[in-house]
Amino acid sequence: MSGASVKVAVRVRPFNSRELSKESKCIIQMQGNSTSIINPKNPKEAAKSFSFDYSYWSHTSQDDPCFASQSRVYNDIGKEMLEHAFEGYNVCIFAYGQTGAGKSYTMMGKQEETQAGIIPQLCEDLFEKINDNNNDEVSFSVEVSYMEIYCERVRDLLNPKNKGNLRVREHPLLGPYVEDLSKLAVTSYTDIADLMDAGNKARTVAATNMNETSSRSHAVFTIVFTQKRLDIGTNLSTEKVSKISLVDLAGSERADSTGAKGTRLKEGANINKSLTTLGKVISALAEVSKKKKKTDFIPYRDSVLTWLLRENLGGNSRTAMVAALSPADINYDETLSTLRYADRAK
Ligand code: ADP
Repeated sequence: MSGASVKVAVRVRPFNSRELSKESKCIIQMQGNSTSIINPKNPKEAAKSFSFDYSYWSHTSQDDPCFASQSRVYNDIGKEMLEHAFEGYNVCIFAYGQTGAGKSYTMMGKQEETQAGIIPQLCEDLFEKINDNNNDEVSFSVEVSYMEIYCERVRDLLNPKNKGNLRVREHPLLGPYVEDLSKLAVTSYTDIADLMDAGNKARTVAATNMNETSSRSHAVFTIVFTQKRLDIGTNLSTEKVSKISLVDLAGSERADSTGAKGTRLKEGANINKSLTTLGKVISALAEVSKKKKKTDFIPYRDSVLTWLLRENLGGNSRTAMVAALSPADINYDETLSTLRYADRAK
């Protein structure tokens, strides 16, 4: 994999009860790595086909070769990204798609063990690898932060008392960062799981208090992972620091399709701005990597999300994206736009 190329997966979820009650038809087909979508308004039109690194199917029998359990998704995507982090790269995994399409399920999953998403599985694997290490010259430290970006403002999910907007600043060497964001040291998977739970609860509470829904904000879970190597002969130590950013993006549905007015419309425009900017950044990076060009203009600064993810998207980093899809005909327009977004990221 060259410099900035992005691994792209699409994942279709099972029908939900609303779609079942409307007797919706499935408009997605998957075969191998390819995903096609049929236009329900014009079934005679040829299906539009896209190919991705992975095409994940979820709503038929587990014998289907495209069927993707939570562990398969983690083994294909999360594991590789964790390996890159051990090699010293910054990594980023994000989930994109309309509200209800399966982003949180993919990233966080559910409490039941077999339904844990990429984030808990990756954290568990991280500590397993750390505990398996029997090289006395290497030691590890792990710090976690969890924030939410809503309308270009940053909230700390691990310190909900810190209600205000946190300032986004730029460190001359380390790049963009959030001032006063809690960064908590953790030494076990249980520590991390507790923080994740607390952060997820804070996210829901904050959203309710502000009359929003959490689907309108981006949730960014960050693990800063440091490997320290002490050369016993020379007594010199070297440090490798990797930042792992795991992002559950806001719903990608367009404001106009939800009949939004006033604040909601402005909020929608802000959310779309960061999703559009993220799309532009990823496609610009993909172009740079295809043309093997060194520099090109990458519009990181155009949104808080992309600015804060700068060190995780370009340069010395590895990125993966999961685009979550509804199978149903009633969501055709949004699903097609998600497929196009994912296609541009390749
Ligand atoms: P989003 O985060 O995109 O708004 P969710 O992840 O909350 O969507 O998914 C909506 C619902 O669909 C949830 O009840 C979730 O458990 C279920 N779901 C989503 N993806 C899958 C899947 N791949 N397999 C089974 N259930 C899923």
